[in-house]
Amino acid sequence: MTYDLVVIGSGPGGYEGAIRASQNGLKVAIVERELLGGICLNWGCIPTKALLKSAEVFDKINHLGDYGLTGEKPGFDFEKVVQRSRAVAKQLNGGVGYLMKKNKIDVIEGFATLEPGKDAPKVRVKLNKGGEQVVEAKNVMLAVGARAREIPAIGAVSDGDRIWTYRNALSPNRMPKSLVVIGSGAIGIEFASFYRSLGAEVTVVEALDRILPVEDKEVSAEAQKAFEKRGFKFRIGAKVTKVEKSGAGVKVSVEVGGKAEVLEAEGCIVAVGIVANTENLGLEKLGVEMDRGHIKNDSHGKTNVKGLYAIGDCAGPPWLAHKASHEAVHAADYMAGKKLSNLNPPIPGCTYATPEVASVGITEQVAKEKGLDVKIGRFPFKANGKAIAAGEPGGFVKVIFDKKTGALLGAHLIGANVTEMVQGFCLAITMEATEEDLQGTVFPHPTMSEAILEASLDADGRMINL
Ligand code: NAD
Repeated sequence: MTYDLVVIGSGPGGYEGAIRASQNGLKVAIVERELLGGICLNWGCIPTKALLKSAEVFDKINHLGDYGLTGEKPGFDFEKVVQRSRAVAKQLNGGVGYLMKKNKIDVIEGFATLEPGKDAPKVRVKLNKGGEQVVEAKNVMLAVGARAREIPAIGAVSDGDRIWTYRNALSPNRMPKSLVVIGSGAIGIEFASFYRSLGAEVTVVEALDRILPVEDKEVSAEAQKAFEKRGFKFRIGAKVTKVEKSGAGVKVSVEVGGKAEVLEAEGCIVAVGIVANTENLGLEKLGVEMDRGHIKNDSHGKTNVKGLYAIGDCAGPPWLAHKASHEAVHAADYMAGKKLSNLNPPIPGCTYATPEVASVGITEQVAKEKGLDVKIGRFPFKANGKAIAAGEPGGFVKVIFDKKTGALLGAHLIGANVTEMVQGFCLAITMEATEEDLQGTVFPHPTMSEAILEASLDADGRMINL
């Protein structure tokens, strides 16, 4: 059979693109070498949220007294915490299987490679059950994702025992008493947050001059303060020169401000970014254009090869599930000649630690680099009634407007629940809202979202509750 579309990779990009293509009347197959749902559902976004929920509940019951409650000293069963996270991932993996059936999408389990074809490259699948299947289609969508970057030159490579990448950290062989986390991006900070909540001594090493370096500087500073309060240790501007096993643990050699230091711990998590899974697919032979290790695509996801699309992590930053889904759904609409969704929507970023961090649009630093004339407003949760009542007064909302037009350019949040609040800003930027629109919106009282209104008012010096 000739399909209209074969999708390679069933992460949130691939499976959502496949569903949209099927909704558009296309006959679709999806090839997956491992688990339906990809990294996000099985080894990333979802199982980490399950671990972090256990950590959050544990933190809260350790502070029962703050809420006028009493109880016995809480504990945890580490194996059960991990099992719960694995069960959540399994449930969602099953959910994707159900969605494939519901949308009449053929699932082919195996590893796909590409060869020259008629309308689009031909897909040859080495089946997991043995043997091969050749699949021809009018369109092929590469949604093959990415994996953890390791640095063999300095020994920062998973050994599955003491030196971990996110996969090991999600299905750990033990609860480490101490950890060195290399990298303070979302992965490093989320795992640092989880293991710290369960009592590990955690030191985070970051090569750049601040933690969460893609975030607004004020957010990085507030986050560092909040994490230090929770007992994290940081080495900032620190270059890791060697990671080695030593005794029953690891030794991580770092250079900070010209001085050498050795950090010792029971384990180490390598969280220094990702690499696209573009090897062994046959891309070179097809002449697929690449850009710094990623597949080059246009704004509809098309590569330079006829009938071949690439979306999500394998096609470049930001390496986020929701960006992959958006690109894939857009490409599936484009290839079916349907009405297209927004081409360049703002892509929010979230870090689900305690406290949470969320942002969308540009930072104050980027606005300065671009020479934009901006107006900035801020509102701290310590002046928000709901946050105080909830015992969550840390953090703030910061908004950045264009001074001339009033357009909302960026929003930066840190505090409890902010990953749920940032979507208001996503909608606002997508709809080209201005300062006036935000200031004229009625926010429900009492909610933490009122800080959005107050921060917008602050841009004009008209805050009400502070
Ligand atoms: P990242 O690129 O976001 O962060 C890696 C950090 O490691 C950077 O700050 C970098 O400066 C630092 N670093 C690199 N080499 C180093 C070295 N040798 N020594 C010390 N520090 C070093 O990567 P990540 O945290 O691994 O995440 C990978 C991708 O996955 C990111 O794009 C991230 O946004 C995405 N992700 C998102 C979420 C989320 O949305 N919550 C969760 C996990 C991952």
